[in-house]
Amino acid sequence: MLGVGLAYGRTGAGGGPAGPPVPVIATTTVVADLVRCVAGDRVAVECLMPPGVDPHVYRATPRDAGRLLAARLVVASGLRLEGRLATLLERLGERVPVVHVADGLPRDRLLEAAPGIPDPHVWFDAALWSETPRLVADALASVDPVSAEHYRARADACAARLLSLDHSIRGAIASIPRDRRVLVTSHDAFRYFGRAYGIEVVGVQGTNTSAEAGLGDINRLVELIVSRRIPAVFAETSVTDRDVVALVEGAAARGRRVRFGGRLYADSLGAAGSGAETLAAALQANTALIVAALREPVADAAPPSDAMGIGP
Ligand SMILES: [Zn+2]
Repeated sequence: MLGVGLAYGRTGAGGGPAGPPVPVIATTTVVADLVRCVAGDRVAVECLMPPGVDPHVYRATPRDAGRLLAARLVVASGLRLEGRLATLLERLGERVPVVHVADGLPRDRLLEAAPGIPDPHVWFDAALWSETPRLVADALASVDPVSAEHYRARADACAARLLSLDHSIRGAIASIPRDRRVLVTSHDAFRYFGRAYGIEVVGVQGTNTSAEAGLGDINRLVELIVSRRIPAVFAETSVTDRDVVALVEGAAARGRRVRFGGRLYADSLGAAGSGAETLAAALQANTALIVAALREPVADAAPPSDAMGIGP
């Protein structure tokens, strides 16, 4: 019999029946979406972390180790996003190929979370993320060389869709009046989004959710919201609302009404049925929430009586 590697072999593009799909594990929902886009039906993609899970603090379960070992390729987001999986992924790399996609991006296009430490949230810049399909195609081709052309052609199509998404997000954010283009949210996941689309980003926590926000951080942000008349603040689906609720209450105590803009998809995409199961859908959902909450100014907590009855 032929070697086990050929168990996943394919006939050439457009050829006869394909073999069984190549088992690949992606760490996060964002990366799983990327691999699915590039691989199509040639790969069976499993996502290690369920939707809604915070990758900064996710720890592998005993069952995860077995799932990872059964894969032909493991695709991680990288740049230390999966902080508590680092040792496991490193050890795993001796048995199964592991690729950290964001580590392959050009360094000069990365932001820093701290001096010398890159910010891992690169998928919020759709143009920057459009560089990753090609990296995934190369990794898939290394474990399934017969399908290399299939992966590369699909990667080019995925990249083109991301560039078109980039264009539409830029146009939507530009519709918010310039002085209200401020995104106040739970943690600093959106700095790439801010840089790419021209919106100032202020996070309550830093770029890593494992550090808790202190009272000083909350007070500093309440001051900013009040002084700059910021109309809305946003929570995130993978992080507790607590800090954002504290901002709304803190501003109210200062006589300033601030909207709860909703929950943004940050480090996880939506669960099945949410309508935000893909990165493109999640970025569009986020952009729609941001535009809806920031485009209009918010009235002060006690509007003058002649403004009553005009509307909400
Ligand atoms: Zn994060």
